[in-house]
Amino acid sequence: ILTAHNVCKTFGGNHRAVEALRDVTFSVERNELCVLLGPSGCGKSTLLNIVAGLEEPTSGMVQLDGREVLGPARERGMVFQSYTSFPWLTVIQNVEYGMKLNGVPKEERRARAEKFLNLVHLTQFRDAYPKTLSGGMKQRVAIARTLANQPEILLMDEPFGALDAETRWHMQEMLLEIVETTHTTILLVTHDIQEAIFLADKIVFLSANPGQLKTILNLDFKKGVDLHSKEELIALP
Ligand code: ATP
Ligand code: MG
Repeated sequence: ILTAHNVCKTFGGNHRAVEALRDVTFSVERNELCVLLGPSGCGKSTLLNIVAGLEEPTSGMVQLDGREVLGPARERGMVFQSYTSFPWLTVIQNVEYGMKLNGVPKEERRARAEKFLNLVHLTQFRDAYPKTLSGGMKQRVAIARTLANQPEILLMDEPFGALDAETRWHMQEMLLEIVETTHTTILLVTHDIQEAIFLADKIVFLSANPGQLKTILNLDFKKGVDLHSKEELIALP
């Protein structure tokens, strides 16, 4: 559903130009969880921002459902590493607010907010304020808010990078649960190879600076494998 064609990105001009991406081509299929993996500074965030429409490629292009990506839009929902919620709104109001901006009618907003808060196991905390929540819970609010807008593809930039190891592990399991129930297509950025192997149907490897496509690894064989033991999975051939 998503394709990046020969995407190049250079920041700045002339003497101070930084080449971030060189000729990156890959695609994400519907219902796939695709992970972009590469060392720090290789251009992963730049590539995800281009897919989100927050940055323009220097050359090349990204298409969603055959239409060229030009600027941010509801159908490409983004979750960042730092939890972005409004402190003056409760958890459920935060989720509803994102839909309000997209013109979803009031009753529908409430119904969807309840559904997606349930999906991220935050129903009990619907009337709490973000500052009273842990980092993992705040990130779950951000995920619910983005999913409530029913994006065609969910874009996640190191979504669990700021969390401690145990919380990260719970969040990874929860994300797979969400995928199983909602069949959301996801493009997720990480530099953690273990996280990539655990989550991905497909891994797109980028080489160090400037980011170039190194290889694409298909992990389709994981489908139908019981994912409840991470150790078991890592032991797979
Ligand atoms: P990390 O794993 O640390 O998040 P990354 O793979 O996401 O790194 P990017 O943030 O995409 O890497 O950066 C890729 C390169 O582009 C780096 O050399 C960075 O300094 C440069 N860069 C990114 N954004 C800008 C910008 N707005 N202006 C100039 N250079 C930039
Ligand atoms: Mg980054």
